[in-house]
Order: sequence, then structure tokens, then C-alpha cells
Amino acid sequence: MNCPLCGHVLPKDAQSCDRCDWVRAETDTAEGKASDLVAVMLSVVPGLGHVYKGYKVLGLLFVIGAFGALLCGALAATATAGFGLALIPIYWFGVMFHVYGIEDKIAPTAKDDGEEY
Ligand SMILES: [Zn+2]
Repeated sequence: MNCPLCGHVLPKDAQSCDRCDWVRAETDTAEGKASDLVAVMLSVVPGLGHVYKGYKVLGLLFVIGAFGALLCGALAATATAGFGLALIPIYWFGVMFHVYGIEDKIAPTAKDDGEEY
């Protein structure tokens, strides 16, 4: 194989390049689970966990959605005597649940996902 950064000829299973700072971006299953947890924790800011996993557009949509959820929650709260505020944590929980379930595109395991780069 050749180094994807500098093109230097490397052994087939090389984990890093000795000419530049390229490192193989491959994680095993244990690290994959850890990235799920990190993504969930990053979802304290909705969308950040999705960006972390490689879903930049989706992450941006969830950030915008968070403002929408806050706005809707506030509007619904005035109409429902505070009950509408429950929409906000439900949104947060939904984002966290979703980011936990989706595939990590930073370390793609399925070949189909890699083509979206
Ligand atoms: Zn290199």
C-alpha cells in the first residue's frame, strides 16, 4: 500500500507512516463503544455528538432543531401552563438516543458508508 498522505510505500498492514504523521484511522469494537458514549455525552449540545461521529450536516440540523425545540417548548409552556417544557428534555433524550444508535462514520465499518466522503 501507499501512504494516503505522502504516497510513501508502506507495508500492507502499516498502522502509521514513518515519513509523515499519517495514522490508520481504524478502531476496534471496544473503542467503537467508547465513541458511542462520547457522542452521547457530547449531545449535551444537540448535534455535537453527530458531528463527532461524522454526520456534519445532520449535526447542524440537530443544533437548529434544538433552538426550535427550545422555542416550541417555551411557546407550548405558555399555552399549557408549563407542561410544554417537557418537550425540551424529550428532544435532548431523542438526540442522545439517536446518536448512540447510528454508525460511526469516522471509522466506517461498512464499505457503503465510506462512499459518501
Ligand atoms: Zn506518509
